[in-house]
Formats: sequence, C-alpha cells, structure tokens
Amino acid sequence: MIELSNLEKRFGDNVVLKDINVAMSEGSVTALVGPSGGGKSTLLRCINLLEIPTSGTVRIGDEALSFRPGVKVATRDIQRLRRQTGMVFQNFQLFPHCTAIGNVMEGLVTVLKWPADKARARALSLLEKVGMAHKADAWPATLSGGQQQRVAIARALAPSPRVLLCDEPTSALDPELAQEVVDVLGQLAVEGTTMVMATHDLRLASKVAREVVFLEAGVVVEKGPVDTVFRNPQHQRTKRFIATLR
Ligand code: ADP
Ligand code: MG
Repeated sequence: MIELSNLEKRFGDNVVLKDINVAMSEGSVTALVGPSGGGKSTLLRCINLLEIPTSGTVRIGDEALSFRPGVKVATRDIQRLRRQTGMVFQNFQLFPHCTAIGNVMEGLVTVLKWPADKARARALSLLEKVGMAHKADAWPATLSGGQQQRVAIARALAPSPRVLLCDEPTSALDPELAQEVVDVLGQLAVEGTTMVMATHDLRLASKVAREVVFLEAGVVVEKGPVDTVFRNPQHQRTKRFIATLR
C-alpha cells in the first residue's frame, strides 16, 4: 500500500535518508523509532512530500512518483500524492482562530469544496470518533493538549486519507493526556486505519503499532514485527537504543 524504494534525501551535502526501502501494507501500523536526528520526521515528510526526496520512488496505493536530482516534479502530481495522506504533528498545530469543529471542517470546505453542512456532519462524526463531540464549539486554546491532539487527529482523517502519518503525536503531552491519544490511535488501528508514526513513546509503539522500523543516521538498521524487534532485537544498535527507552 505504501512503498518507498531507493529513497534518498539530502540537505546540501548532508545525506539524511540513505537508500530507504520499506513497504507498509494496507491496515498496518508502523512505528518509526530511533535516535533524534536519525531522519524519522524527514521520512514522514518525504511520504507526504512536504519534503521532496532527492531520489527514489514514493508509492501510496495506486499513486506513485519518482524523483531524480535536478528533475522538477509537477505541483499537481505532488498534491495528488499528498492527498492520500493525513498528518498529525507533535504540537497539534490547530488553527487558533477556528473552533474544534471548524478545524476539522476547514480542509473539506476550502480544499475539497464540500458544502458547509456536509462538512459539518462529517466533522461531527469524526469528533465523536475521537471523543471530542462535546467540545465541537470550543476554541483550541481552551482545550488540553490531549484534547487538541484528538481534534488534530479528526482533522487529519477528515478527507479520508489512505494513510495517517503521525510525528511524535504524544511527545508534547503528560503521561495521562498521552494515554488519551494512545487510546484513540489504538482504536483507529483496530478499525484498520493504515498509520505510520514516528515516536519515542514505547507505550504508543508497543500498544498500537504492529511493525517497527528502526532508523539511525538515515539508515534502516532493523525492521520487523514489534514483538520481534522490541523483545529480541538483532542489531547491537537497536538493542542499545531500546534499552534507553525502558
Ligand atoms: P528525527 O525526526 O529522527 O529526529 P529529522 O528527520 O528531524 O530526525 O532530522 C534528520 C536530519 O536532517 C538532522 O540532521 C537534521 O538536522 C536534518 N534536517 C532536517 N530537516 C532539515 C532541513 N529542512 N534543512 C536541513 N537539514 C534538515
Ligand atoms: Mg523528528
């Protein structure tokens, strides 16, 4: 369903992702783990093309794009691939001037040109799904971090993306509020939502994800089922890193 082939990303001379080859099946949940600066955020941003890969291929469902240094890819093609994805950020990034339901409706109305009442109905059902329907008319500033992140998840899901990308979705939250977000993402996983999440949160990775990709210095050191990689890592570097999380 998602396939990254020979993916490379450079910032100037700095090679941040090196020959990444990973595939994620439909309905799978993958945790991207590894030390800070290892390239997790860049990898997520290369999947939704917030960063343009230097070379390699990104495929999501039936949409694929290949990149080569110096060859510009049409904005329209980038947008077509990006629409297959929804993104959740560490610091929520809700629009402060929109209510909770306004945040969820925004993309449906402005980008997809849905009529407001249809967008409102969809937004309300998504707020229900994340347990936030009772706060539909609240302003982001009045919500806890966990509540804001749940609204952000509803917003990311609004256009029915094929994959939900989450960059450290619980890292800005106290453990109790992080748990709310873990519960919501866990429920989405049960419902078959395809997700890729960068995280340091062992609880999130082990409770929600089924697959792990361990990324260090831009290289996939190890990948496999959560149980195998966390309980019985094969590589010294993975072992050392997982010991630091416990
Ligand atoms: P992680 O999310 O695993 O902490 P990142 O993907 O944020 O890692 O960063 C990987 C490397 O890419 C780091 O060395 C970082 O400095 C570099 N990097 C990330 N974004 C940019 C950018 N926009 N310009 C230059 N370097 C960047
Ligand atoms: Mg990061």
